[in-house]
Amino acid sequence: MKNCVPIIEVNEENFYDVLFAMKSAIADSSFVAIDCELTGLGDRRKLNYPEIDLRYKYTAEIAKSFAIISVGLSCFTCTSVSDVEVGEENGEAERLRSQDYIVQTFNILTLCSDDFSVEVKAHKFLLSHGFDFNELYAKGHQYYRGCDQEGCDTPSIRELFSTILEHRKPLIIHNGLVDLMFLYQSFYSDLPKKPESFAADLEDMFPHGVYDTKYICEFHESLPATYLEYLYKKMQLKNALRRRTGDWHVRVQFPPYPQNLKNIDWQPYQDVLLYNSGTDDDGLDICENFALHGWCPNLNKCANSHDINKIVQCLQPTIYDEGDGYRTTTTFVGSLTQIISHATSKHENTPQLVRKTRNENGTEAAGPPAKKNKVLRKNTVETKTTNGVHIEPKEKQSEDIQGAGGHTAGFDAFMTGFLFATHVANHGTMTSKDDLFSANNLGLAEHVNKIYLMGKNFPFLIRTGTYASMSHNHITKISKIRNELQPEGNSLT
Ligand SMILES: [Zn+2]
Repeated sequence: MKNCVPIIEVNEENFYDVLFAMKSAIADSSFVAIDCELTGLGDRRKLNYPEIDLRYKYTAEIAKSFAIISVGLSCFTCTSVSDVEVGEENGEAERLRSQDYIVQTFNILTLCSDDFSVEVKAHKFLLSHGFDFNELYAKGHQYYRGCDQEGCDTPSIRELFSTILEHRKPLIIHNGLVDLMFLYQSFYSDLPKKPESFAADLEDMFPHGVYDTKYICEFHESLPATYLEYLYKKMQLKNALRRRTGDWHVRVQFPPYPQNLKNIDWQPYQDVLLYNSGTDDDGLDICENFALHGWCPNLNKCANSHDINKIVQCLQPTIYDEGDGYRTTTTFVGSLTQIISHATSKHENTPQLVRKTRNENGTEAAGPPAKKNKVLRKNTVETKTTNGVHIEPKEKQSEDIQGAGGHTAGFDAFMTGFLFATHVANHGTMTSKDDLFSANNLGLAEHVNKIYLMGKNFPFLIRTGTYASMSHNHITKISKIRNELQPEGNSLT
């Protein structure tokens, strides 16, 4: 289906049928991105204790009492890295530098067979985003928490998680400390008592690294907001721009699944590129709360706009260049309030046409004080391309295609993986699809194994500290996964 990412819905009924495909997708991947939906997070103040030891201890309690209700798994396989001159009709050659991926995404419904707590707020949130709890209890693929249990050798999501470790795949998460702890407790083993041991275990489990896209964007990019949906759309725009300017960019493709296949959820994923402020604008101002955090206490009663496409586009105002007549885009940095007020005032005063002036040096004079302006090459939003796919003018997506507003673990995992792929492309150090996806090869040595910590100006480090050691549970389990399994290729029988 055009402009949609296919997400395979996995549950108890089809788990065994899809397991082989999921394991193959992991085995063939360059990296995997994961996102979890949980039944709750408990007391937020405790979850964000200033002391990391206490924070870890509380989160471990949460991971033992709440449950994972769906796991998004998005497997990105690099299929080519191209750097070519492409001829154009008018004779001008254009540079094309792309990193191409085939992406397979799964949304796995999981039901904890141990007793678990449910937080009312989380329940209501998920309900409001279309999550079907009846389906969860009827069709959730069951799992138990903690260490492996004797006699439970049937294929399970625990085995699927082990496949990632067996093949030593880089793991990509977004704001993922809680996800990592839940994944460990739910599909791997009992969490170690100390965060230092947890960090040492993770370093050994993921020898090619764990990347947290929230940490990367917060600490290595200059962006007004860092919640997943904003970043994803922002990077889509940036990626499309990089393609037009001959810079390294990402192109994604999906397996050619039949469109009418049962259990495939087709989610639109390019709507920000198709958004046209001229025809889609609702005339409302941007909600600052929503723009900054991705949510708003007024929910759907808010008088301002929560349209994420509008927010992303407005924070990247379109200006009109008198010189060549092409619409160009100026990106700048500043506080979100500055940017919003700038974008909104432009929007109010001159809805579709903002004139740019040039000073004597030919540099731009318009824009906010703290800007870092960059004039971009010509193009229009509504007719150009991204990811190598030509986009037609926007068609209205039907409600059923929109599904739960994109808020599924599967789609979140896809967005996280795409974000990471664009970071890899921006660094431009990967020269071949066969390059090992190691931090050094990707130019990401400063980014790897650093997990975002809410409210802290430093990350949680995945490493074996001087006085730390791996947990006994982990050592036993990882040797079982890596040494006792049959050789790669025969391990799926
Ligand atoms: Zn609002």
